[in-house]
Amino acid sequence: MNRSDFLKTIGLGALGSLIATEATGATGARNQQLVARGGAAGARAFGPMSIGTWPFAEHTTRASLEAMHKGSSALDAVELGVKICEADPRERSVGLGGRPDRDGRVTLDACIMDHLGNIGSVAACEEVVHVSSLARAVMERTPHVMLVGDGATQFAREQGFPLQNLLVPESEAEWKKWLEKAEYKPIPNIENHDTIGQLTLDAEGRLAGCCTTSGMAFKMHGRVGDSPIIGAGLYVDGEVGAATATGHGEEVIRTVGSFRVVAAMKAGKSPQQACEDAVREIHQLFVRRGKPWADTQIGFIAMDLNGHVGGFALRPGFSYAVATKDGVEVLPAPFMIA
Ligand code: ASP
Repeated sequence: MNRSDFLKTIGLGALGSLIATEATGATGARNQQLVARGGAAGARAFGPMSIGTWPFAEHTTRASLEAMHKGSSALDAVELGVKICEADPRERSVGLGGRPDRDGRVTLDACIMDHLGNIGSVAACEEVVHVSSLARAVMERTPHVMLVGDGATQFAREQGFPLQNLLVPESEAEWKKWLEKAEYKPIPNIENHDTIGQLTLDAEGRLAGCCTTSGMAFKMHGRVGDSPIIGAGLYVDGEVGAATATGHGEEVIRTVGSFRVVAAMKAGKSPQQACEDAVREIHQLFVRRGKPWADTQIGFIAMDLNGHVGGFALRPGFSYAVATKDGVEVLPAPFMIA
């Protein structure tokens, strides 16, 4: 089945085709299609494949996939993929060029996890482009799982990571403009935030995930979001599947979002249904707390060992890339509230 047939089959061919929450049947059909495209039946037959948040993951998932086709492990491949985004100064929500905090400092968050439960994380880290690799170094070369702030940068220096100024002129200009009003107001999908969360499944059925971001633009100095927090921004269960999050990190932390998605998959939900349930839980907490959700966005993506994938968002505008042996597609995520 070619791409346009595929899109027709799953009803995503037209612009107006973002699937609302009622369309579980259609999203279910899409997952079936993705599985059908993944290869022959059998729990270990679907890798290599990779999925990642937002359209920039089209390039990173493709690179990860190619690496896995050449024999890379899921862990090496996911790190290789997200590093492309971290190194790109045009991506203003990840790595080099990320938007600064309200004090004009670029502070990055990242975590990484493999199929065996090995984890590493850095938060509020300055001057290091590849915080994904630094998180991996925490995982592999320290007795700890998380380093923050100056300690993370100090560790980077000790490990020979190059240190550099991450603030590019465009981000500095945006920050200076923001200072004129100094109003902290994240706008969903207007890209003053975003994260690359990427998941990989290699040919041997090993899963890995990595999540890396500059977090919310113009956040308070020291603010840490969900992205470096295992269970919130990322979770991998090597026997079940993996999930990662993007959007309003405080809400994802509140619900331990990615762990929740994987736990639901473990209990038998499809990745799609598990992502939907997690977004609904977050929405419920907004309602119960009497908090407005109009200015927020949350998105989850998930993948299981059988090559099923899912993605769901609170609001329109979130998309994710799916890379399989048949190619790479960026799919608009179904959403809860139009
Ligand atoms: N989740 C990130 C954070 O809260 C931002 C994003 O993904 O948009 O830092």
